[in-house]
Amino acid sequence: MTIPPVRIGLGHDRHRLVSDKPLILGGVTIEFDRGLHGHSDADVLLHAVTDALLGALALGDIGEWFPNTDPQWAGANSAVFVKAAIEEVRRRGWEIANLDATVHAERPKLSPYKQAIAESLATLLGIPREQINVKAKTGEKVGPIGREEAIDADAIVLLVRTV
Ligand code: MG
Repeated sequence: MTIPPVRIGLGHDRHRLVSDKPLILGGVTIEFDRGLHGHSDADVLLHAVTDALLGALALGDIGEWFPNTDPQWAGANSAVFVKAAIEEVRRRGWEIANLDATVHAERPKLSPYKQAIAESLATLLGIPREQINVKAKTGEKVGPIGREEAIDADAIVLLVRTV
């Protein structure tokens, strides 16, 4: 069987909401009275995107590449992780066809930020805005999302061969 020159990658992440941190989603600072806890800047969406890219390349996960036990990544801007992953994508002869992502947060309301987040992702990844979709869902007031204990992010990416 000939394998078609495409690869698909899936990413998921969750971070806890805490009171003493800024909320950064997809590289965009969101106005809110709480933020996400994590070793880096805890950008849950950028972590999911990084995992989707690494997954598509069959290169493991973000924890293997950037261990949260490594002081080098303490407080790190998660753009660093995405940039390393997209560099690896291109180095291996692939390009992103499209990226679809969902952020799960009961609050704050993310609809006013979806455009800015998609534009931020487009800039970070170096691809046209039209190839990116960002969705926002609540937790319907149940579970860790609904109780505002955490924010989740999902990302799925399709890679196409360039060489
Ligand atoms: Mg994470």
